[in-house]
Amino acid sequence: MKLHLVMAFSLMTLFTYSQNEVSLNPCGTSTDIEADKFLTKFFDGELNYKIVEDIIWVPMTSHLVYPEEGKPNFDEVNILKALCHLNENFSEVGIQFYHSSFEYIFNDDYYDHGFSDGIQMMNENNIFGTANSYFVLSPAGNCGYYAPSGGAVAMAFSCSGAFDDTWAHEMGHYFSLPHTFRGWEGEDYVNNGQKAPTFVNNRKVELAEDDPDCQISGDKFCDTPADYLSFRWTCNNNGLSSVLQLDPDSIAFRSDGSYFMSYANSSCMNQFSPLQMEAMVANLQSTKSSQIDADYEFVNVNTEETILVAPSQDEIITSPSTTLSWEETGNATHYQVEVSRFPGFNFLNVKVYTTDLSLLVSNLQPDKTYYWRVTPFGDSDFCTEKTEEKSFTTQFTPVSIDDFLSDNFEIHPNPSTDLLTIKWGGNAKFNINFMNIYGQIVSSKKQVENGTSILHDLSAGIYLIEVSNEDKRVTKRIIVQ
Ligand SMILES: [Zn+2]
Repeated sequence: MKLHLVMAFSLMTLFTYSQNEVSLNPCGTSTDIEADKFLTKFFDGELNYKIVEDIIWVPMTSHLVYPEEGKPNFDEVNILKALCHLNENFSEVGIQFYHSSFEYIFNDDYYDHGFSDGIQMMNENNIFGTANSYFVLSPAGNCGYYAPSGGAVAMAFSCSGAFDDTWAHEMGHYFSLPHTFRGWEGEDYVNNGQKAPTFVNNRKVELAEDDPDCQISGDKFCDTPADYLSFRWTCNNNGLSSVLQLDPDSIAFRSDGSYFMSYANSSCMNQFSPLQMEAMVANLQSTKSSQIDADYEFVNVNTEETILVAPSQDEIITSPSTTLSWEETGNATHYQVEVSRFPGFNFLNVKVYTTDLSLLVSNLQPDKTYYWRVTPFGDSDFCTEKTEEKSFTTQFTPVSIDDFLSDNFEIHPNPSTDLLTIKWGGNAKFNINFMNIYGQIVSSKKQVENGTSILHDLSAGIYLIEVSNEDKRVTKRIIVQ
């Protein structure tokens, strides 16, 4: 069985992104001419589609876009949790997404990209017959966007949280929906006591009450209220904007933040309008029918059927590493494993995604109690619970890294290209593991003698070198150029 080796002292903090570092615009979706034409046909009754009782299943390909070096603190589990929320947001629509595959792209130009690179990324990597979403650090400085010419959605890690509605908003664009404030993109509405103009950016401005032209004004949807706010806004307790707007007839109104296609905060949003839902179903059936999987059926994951097997409760572990294993009989296909020194899991030593039923954890500290638990996910059941937690205790003689370090431990050159020399005091032989930054062993050498030059074929990047024998162990960071 394939095992992932994981450092108990997680490295993920080395390569985190911070939500505070980048200030993102809510959405970078530009005017979609095809969608506009589609909606004209939709409202003119020129489309053939049928409203079906059953759920329409769409396979979702999630592309994880990483830098060429380092790994950000965003992984498959973030996407599985976001899929839970996306399906909740689309449950009324009658469209649901199932996980088709994770695809991995290591490219600095795509990780933090401008629109032209983003569209190129999509055209190079889209998987036909599925909806495609790309998760990146910065999608052209936005929380997300849908690119009609790329045929896919790009999402920022920091806007893809388990309760963030950005993905639902972008998938709304994907299925032809414009912003509720259509026409006002790039225009700052300012309430200076003046009524709004009749047209903005060549689009008729929607009236606040009984607009006879609502099918050609604003977002063209007569069942979404007028909205002129093209910047991120916070709603009041009634879900409305604090900004008072004056329509072209001088009627005052506040925007309704409950619509996913507005720019209200996620906490305000909870709905697509009935006509928006119908338009999305019509768009899927008439322009994206290859993405409908008529044979797919929901597979429920029963978390209670995931049993933590080993170590058993309160087991004493007598080495710095142990294999966690669990049994699954409830249709799960993905797992998140968490290990913590604290029963509340406030600080995690390990947080790892795996599709295996076991995980090797290393670098455990002696005489400590560790708590662990597993969250199973399915391919269409993403809103799952964690298992009960178990704990084990370590008891072994600590390895004195200080002794070893003071023992004239040397690695040179560092950075290196292909040849390394490791020196230590004394004549004892050591085993050497090279690990990537995910903590996975990529290369090993057994019974290495002091001062031996080691030829490695590691590609450029950052690695950890672990040198150990029965009673000594030390891990150092090395750079390969
Ligand atoms: Zn948008």
